[in-house]
Amino acid sequence: EIKDINKNYFGSYSSFGIHREMISDKVRTDAYRRAILENPSLLKGAVVMDVGCGTGILSLFAAQAGASRVIAVEASKKMASVAAQVAKDNGLLSSESSGEAKHHCTGKIEVVQAMVEELENAKRIKPESVDVLLSEWMGYCLLYESMLSSVLYARDKWLKPSGAILPDTATIFVAGFGRGGTSLPFWENVYGFNMSCIGKEVVEDAAQLPLVDTIDGCDIVTETQVLQSFDLVTMKHQEMDFTAKVELAPKSDALVDDPAELSSKMGKCHGLVLWFETGFTKRFCREMPTILSTSPNTPKTHWSQTILTFKEPITMGKGKQVGSDGSGAVGSDACPAGRLQSRISIVRGAQHRSIDISMEISA
Ligand code: SAH
Repeated sequence: EIKDINKNYFGSYSSFGIHREMISDKVRTDAYRRAILENPSLLKGAVVMDVGCGTGILSLFAAQAGASRVIAVEASKKMASVAAQVAKDNGLLSSESSGEAKHHCTGKIEVVQAMVEELENAKRIKPESVDVLLSEWMGYCLLYESMLSSVLYARDKWLKPSGAILPDTATIFVAGFGRGGTSLPFWENVYGFNMSCIGKEVVEDAAQLPLVDTIDGCDIVTETQVLQSFDLVTMKHQEMDFTAKVELAPKSDALVDDPAELSSKMGKCHGLVLWFETGFTKRFCREMPTILSTSPNTPKTHWSQTILTFKEPITMGKGKQVGSDGSGAVGSDACPAGRLQSRISIVRGAQHRSIDISMEISA
């Protein structure tokens, strides 16, 4: 069954559309490009492994940055052969024939068609010989696809003990959003007609189900907290499944002072939004540390954000609150600090490539 899941998964990466989408995501591709090209002391002369090279774009940057050898690993047959052709067409010509059918050797870039977990068959690579491990492994909500486990596998097997990982940190953030983050405003005014009954149904249907969509920074009504952070150099596989608790204080401009205003639209939190950043920190990128952010406050990426809608909006009040909307508990001291408490779990799903996100709110 895992075989089938992998077949579908790598099959999906055989279509050029998805690669075009990733390459066209300038926030994403520029962050990698900066990290690779503007840290010459890291890349010059280095042996680089690109885990999941796709079109080979990151390997090309690495070759351009002066890497002495770039091992580009790609499980999709189609993409591996395309990546080899691209490397060739860009003057990184094969200087020798490797003699291994699946091993396309060029001047600098060697494309190996294999899952990185099955690389031992490519005998030309020695364990713990890689200086820089490079990968774009992030999925929706960071962990969807679970490709991080392949990167950790490659780290443990192929990276030198003192080697670098790009990116080397990953952080998931959480904040509360207001009604603007829901589809309510859209349905409230359709060519001047009130269709809010549809909006309510849409929101109810979406309640508690994670949804990939964009949230506008101005619709965030709480402060932002770190949900979980990962250090790719030291983290263990089991850290990918976690439960974390957060407390979110309302943003000061989202506070409701006057109880008479409690029913107003401001001060209501309709759900939580998750997003991530990966860091190319100065630990390895001394000349030019870089952050790749998928925040609602920075330019959009193809990852958008991940949205968890509450069944009922929660009203946020100053210094006291939180109660669920209309329950009459607002202003009670159920949550004296005025903070929204939530517990979020992200675990890899039984479906191997999926993740399950669950949320509990205590108010
Ligand atoms: N590095 C490219 C592509 C990123 S998408 C870019 O930045 O544009 C991730 C790629 O990794 C896909 O092409 C997918 O087929 C490949 N991949 C995922 N898991 C892999 C694994 N375990 N071994 C080898 N390739 C993998």
